[in-house]
Amino acid sequence: MSASVAPRLPSIDALLRHPACLPLLERYGREALLSRLRQLLDELRADVLNGQLAAVEISPQVLAGRVGERLAQQQRSHVRRVFNLTGTVLHTNLGRALLPDEAIDAVQMAARYPLNLEFDLASGKRGDRDDLIEGLIRELTGAEAVTVVNNNAAAVLLSLNSLGARKEGIISRGELIEIGGAFRIPDIMARAGVRLHEVGTTNRTHARDYEAAISPRSGLIMRVHASNYSIEGFTARVPTAELAELAHRHGLPLLEDLGSGSLLDLTRWGLPAEPTVRQALLDGADIVTFSGDKLLGGPQAGLIVGRKELIAKIKKNPLKRALRVDKLTLAALEAVLGLYRDPDRLAERLPSLRLLTRPQADIHAQASRLQPAMAEALGEPWQVSAVQALGMIGSGSQPVARLPSAALCLRPHVSKRLRGRCLLNLEAALRALPIPVLGRIDDDALWLDLRQLDDEPAWLAQLPQLQVES
Ligand SMILES: *Cc1c(COP(=O)(O)O)cnc(C)c1O
Repeated sequence: MSASVAPRLPSIDALLRHPACLPLLERYGREALLSRLRQLLDELRADVLNGQLAAVEISPQVLAGRVGERLAQQQRSHVRRVFNLTGTVLHTNLGRALLPDEAIDAVQMAARYPLNLEFDLASGKRGDRDDLIEGLIRELTGAEAVTVVNNNAAAVLLSLNSLGARKEGIISRGELIEIGGAFRIPDIMARAGVRLHEVGTTNRTHARDYEAAISPRSGLIMRVHASNYSIEGFTARVPTAELAELAHRHGLPLLEDLGSGSLLDLTRWGLPAEPTVRQALLDGADIVTFSGDKLLGGPQAGLIVGRKELIAKIKKNPLKRALRVDKLTLAALEAVLGLYRDPDRLAERLPSLRLLTRPQADIHAQASRLQPAMAEALGEPWQVSAVQALGMIGSGSQPVARLPSAALCLRPHVSKRLRGRCLLNLEAALRALPIPVLGRIDDDALWLDLRQLDDEPAWLAQLPQLQVES
């Protein structure tokens, strides 16, 4: 009988009492430890019966070690910090804007304590959560009224449904955009119950095109900021002021989806011009929607600002309740908006703006400083150089504009045939670090754009752990 000559698995009870398992018991609790131990023993039983495992392989110490690894793996958070060295600052897949300390403190407070979310402290009566930030947003945009929802997609859906359901929404063909696959203006309009009436052509739409489309079935005119692509050449677009005048002459509201929605003119920091919310309202847009976590630099949110009676209508829509923001978002948003009251210091205090405006020379100096450590971590087969690079704002803002930046450029010294595989291996090794490092592959090299490398010590500290498969 093979079982009698083969070593025997320890019993669950013996393992649970074994000193090697005690730290695991303490750390993960009896239930988790028990279930992982049972699982491991079940997996090993057949091999043990066949005599395929030596005694040391099933010693309590070894088994405890294996179970410990599994428990640690299982316990590890799925939400993980990464280094975004892709060159795209507001990266939608990597969480867009980073919050300033003021907002992080506000979120902590809101998470830890009860707060006046819907409670008016002056009157002692029930309040409205939008009131917490309405004053500030009015001040910063010149809007009459404000409401906030979960993201800009929700802001567009809610505004369209509230103001144009069962009627026609008139929009230029050149503005029927798709963002990140799932957000397409025609689909959102359909879901909002608004019938799409597209006018003009992809590259040219005139005031007379809008005018000809207006009928008793019309509910609103919509304008969408074509944020993630650009049409150049033989183009025509009706200025917002003219479109607003036309809409109002026919008693229709003009909705403008600004996408990024800057609160301030970014050219003062040398960034490409983006339409501001204040200007869109001054031009006569009745409702303007924009994201909280793009150029604004705050938490994920959708802001709807504009005329008082239209905002009142939007707030009465039952969908508003389904799309509202939570207390953590409101706390962060108020803190971020507060920083806008002092534009002179905004670029120091708001991380997204600080990163977007980091001078190329500064980034290049950092690349030169880090080059030796990177070269050492990669060793002989790689050429590591500190070079100039071009990054992007991201999140659809200014798709053609490039941010002059600097990067570590990592090139394998191998034949062209093997280069692709080499780069993918390096990419995977960087992703496998304790804090995964994300770059981009381009032109037979892996680029680590350092514009967003704030925490240099943490980045350097983990470099020796880099293990690239060859
Ligand atoms: C980004 C964007 C949206 C979607 O905003 P989210 O905040 O991601 O929901 C809608 N419209 C435009 C024009 C955009 O740029």
